[in-house]
Amino acid sequence: MAKKITILGGGPCGLYAAHRALELGAEVVLHEKANQFGGLAGGHQRGENWYDLGVHMLHAFDEEIFRTCADAMSEERIEVPLKAHIRWGDKLYHYPLRGRDILAGIPPFTLARCLTGLLIAEFQSRFSGRDEGDDAESALIELYGSPLYEFFFEDFTHRYWGIHPRDLSAEFVRRKMPRLSAVDVFKNLLEKLKLTKARDATEGALRFETLHYSQTGTETLPRSLAASLINRGADLRLNSLVEKIDPREGLIISTIPLPHLIQAIDAPVDIQATAAKLRFKPMVVYALLVRKEKCMDALYTYYRDRIFHRVGEPKNAGLKVTPTESTTLIVETTCEIGDRKWTGEALPEIIRDLEAEGICTASDIQEHHLLHSEQAYPIFNRGFEENLKVVTDYLAGFPNLRTTGRQGAFTYPNMHSAMRMGAIAAEELLVAADSIRSTNAESPK
Ligand SMILES: Cc1cc2nc3c(=O)[nH]c(=O)nc-3n(C[C@H](O)[C@H](O)[C@H](O)COP(=O)(O)OP(=O)(O)OC[C@H]3O[C@@H](n4cnc5c(N)ncnc54)[C@H](O)[C@@H]3O)c2cc1C
Repeated sequence: MAKKITILGGGPCGLYAAHRALELGAEVVLHEKANQFGGLAGGHQRGENWYDLGVHMLHAFDEEIFRTCADAMSEERIEVPLKAHIRWGDKLYHYPLRGRDILAGIPPFTLARCLTGLLIAEFQSRFSGRDEGDDAESALIELYGSPLYEFFFEDFTHRYWGIHPRDLSAEFVRRKMPRLSAVDVFKNLLEKLKLTKARDATEGALRFETLHYSQTGTETLPRSLAASLINRGADLRLNSLVEKIDPREGLIISTIPLPHLIQAIDAPVDIQATAAKLRFKPMVVYALLVRKEKCMDALYTYYRDRIFHRVGEPKNAGLKVTPTESTTLIVETTCEIGDRKWTGEALPEIIRDLEAEGICTASDIQEHHLLHSEQAYPIFNRGFEENLKVVTDYLAGFPNLRTTGRQGAFTYPNMHSAMRMGAIAAEELLVAADSIRSTNAESPK
């Protein structure tokens, strides 16, 4: 008899877990609370146009996953060269920042201070053997020195996350913060000259690469993956909110937010209280239909001093827009549930900043829509590691259950990494289940 596996959540991770489970011969039932698949990577149709919840494009780094996705997306897949910008001072620069851009973008006196700070930080870490502190502020100062930290990271991080870097964990710097690749070049040089100690590479900034998209935006990927799963016999259920589940019954892969899983399995009160401390940063997208052929040159641009932190123009990646002489903008901003940004009251400030950037004017905007995510980014506040450990240690008591993906493992994967996490969870459960079965079969009755 085929083994049965229950998957909670139909985002990239849950869908790929289902794909792998089918390959391993399991019977799959997947529950997705929304009325469509894709989670954060799902598309949203408003009128005749599709809008992403933050521009989402597939990377081809994981070859096996890329092949599966490309086969599912078939003719709908469009290849797009990455072209991204960052507003730095009064100019737009290539993103991630290159060495010459940093040299040109920082006033000479500040630049001298930053370089001195960087050198001091490097020598201190080499000669004092000082480790990064446990908060993001100390980790950033250790990496880049105080002046560069103050100039580049402090205010921006505070505004973006609503939390000062000293209250964020150092782990946040290692796992989430884009590295200043230009500074890394300088540091690599110091390393080569044996002036500083070599360290493990952490998350690299984006390099030149080809991305994968479609005429209807990100929705093609989850839609076509789900269709291929259904064709192969998976039972995928939309509008299926999981509120209660017995973790001792059957094989379960959960990709829903960890605190919700803890509630759904009726964990003891102290575990629920700890899980509730694992918080997520919400995000709202102002999705605009704009009466202009084109607003920007890049696929997306990052902003440091505006109410939004990124604006994408998916038409530049091949999105079909109706009417054809219009374009759409995906204006992303982090927020709190219920605040002015979340409710849409911040539209005048959004338009003011779009106008100030020369992207479009109020009279260009034909339609605006709000897209919300309550769980856009896990928050790595100080001490989150201990809370996460308490919760995962508790869950380890249920060998038939895996919690994974962005929300389930409380981490920051791209789509392909979330899919890989789903595949691993399916392998762990199904292959382990197989070996348990054969051990039982061999044992005397
Ligand atoms: C603004 C932004 C831009 C991004 N851009 C990119 C990009 O360009 N490229 C890239 O590769 N990655 C990108 N990512 C990352 C990518 O979106 C995520 O890593 C990926 O979607 C994670 O997939 P997941 O399945 O783990 O989680 P999710 O996508 O969050 O899926 C979880 C699913 O569980 C469902 N669910 C929750 N609770 C329940 C419940 N109780 N019962 C049933 N179902 C439930 C949710 O509805 C959801 O569908 C971006 C992320 C953000 C926030």
